[in-house]
Amino acid sequence: MSSDLVSREPTADRLRCPVPGRRSAELDRRRRAAVSSGVGVLLPAYADRGEDGVVVDVDGNRFIDLASGVAVTTVGNRNPRVVARVRDQLDRFTHTGFFLTPYESYVEVAEELNRLTPGTHEKRTALFNSGAEAVENAVKIARTATGRRGVIAFDHAFHGRTNLAMALTAKNQPYKAGFGPFAGEVHRAPMAYPYRWPSGPERAAQEAFEAFRTLAEKQVGAENTAAVILEPIQGEGGFVVPAPGFFREIARWCADNGAVFIADEVQTGMCRTGDWFASSYEHTVPDLVTTAKGLAGGLPLSGVTGRAELMDAAGPGGLGGTYGGNPLACEAALGAIEAMEEGGLGVRAREIEALFRTGLGAIADRHPSVGEVRGRGAMMALELVEDPDTRRPAAALTRRIQQYCLDAGVLVLTAGTFDNVLRFLPPLVISDEQLTQGLAVLGEAFDALA
Ligand SMILES: *Cc1c(COP(=O)(O)O)cnc(C)c1O
Repeated sequence: MSSDLVSREPTADRLRCPVPGRRSAELDRRRRAAVSSGVGVLLPAYADRGEDGVVVDVDGNRFIDLASGVAVTTVGNRNPRVVARVRDQLDRFTHTGFFLTPYESYVEVAEELNRLTPGTHEKRTALFNSGAEAVENAVKIARTATGRRGVIAFDHAFHGRTNLAMALTAKNQPYKAGFGPFAGEVHRAPMAYPYRWPSGPERAAQEAFEAFRTLAEKQVGAENTAAVILEPIQGEGGFVVPAPGFFREIARWCADNGAVFIADEVQTGMCRTGDWFASSYEHTVPDLVTTAKGLAGGLPLSGVTGRAELMDAAGPGGLGGTYGGNPLACEAALGAIEAMEEGGLGVRAREIEALFRTGLGAIADRHPSVGEVRGRGAMMALELVEDPDTRRPAAALTRRIQQYCLDAGVLVLTAGTFDNVLRFLPPLVISDEQLTQGLAVLGEAFDALA
């Protein structure tokens, strides 16, 4: 790790001027005149450069990165292995269309995903551009392989913004409001959300599973259920770690009933939680796994990987797309996978978890507004409440703490159906020192506002 190369950077030294600075403010005026306001911007500080654990804006302000562009720059911005491979590819060709003139790097990424995803059965992979596209294709594959139509998703789920992915996503604002009608044959089951399960966390797995089973068997019909899709840890939904056993029971129900179990590992996959895939913690081998965010070191690439007999069910030309598995993105993915393997980044994610558990635990000890500290690996969160007994979500406080951190040069994201979760997902190459500084700012924010 590069921690010895990084000098101490107190807030005052990292920020040259109040955010946004002059150049960012000017760019933001142009944005408002040119870019759809449907594309939101959290902090109008315009990027100039990315380093391992820091994003530098055009005014020279340095932000400690506890977001990694939502779990994308897992191996850091411009990881040397990613950059070298992409540069080399740029000198060879930038596009052919894999379906037209195929190339080795696509095949190699498929081989790597087949090797790294859980299970030793025979697998195949198809590549796409975004997480939503991977999810849509996983459902297409499940439907064509089973000849069934129904799909079951869960409360608090996030699966993307395209029409079918939006239908699978739970939250109305901002993802669905005004964008219907949604894709049909999508059903929603309760999530085993331990902190908010009405009869308590111990009963969450069993009771949520029973509710799922009633929905699947009595309303949808097991024989109509093509697929069940679940995140091993819910991302946008608030880093909800399912009650122990729930994920595995759902997968088992699918196996018993001929439905395809899709693990949406777009956010949790590729070392984020300390293993290649978070399904491993649940001792579960999904039928299909979707990947995207951390896969290609910042370049757009996604995949569906799974059982050969499912993946081969679609007719030639039924899966794919003009850009799917772009050669630059494939080379980037191969570089990112090398960086993860050689840098031991799974182990690093668990070290980051330990550091966060200490730092976030100290904040929780001082502040009853922290209802729960949860997560796995470098995917940690605080759920904020107005009162620890009623557990009423503290959305306004969450937003103010986030703003405090942003103003102090620490990039922090929120999440959750109730907008009351602060989530932390730094690049795995961030130094301990940068993490400690980020946590110190977060602690200050709580002390000042909570
Ligand atoms: C981000 C995300 C998606 C959607 O990915 P996009 O690349 O934004 O389309 C799907 N599923 C999960 C679990 C995600 O976190």
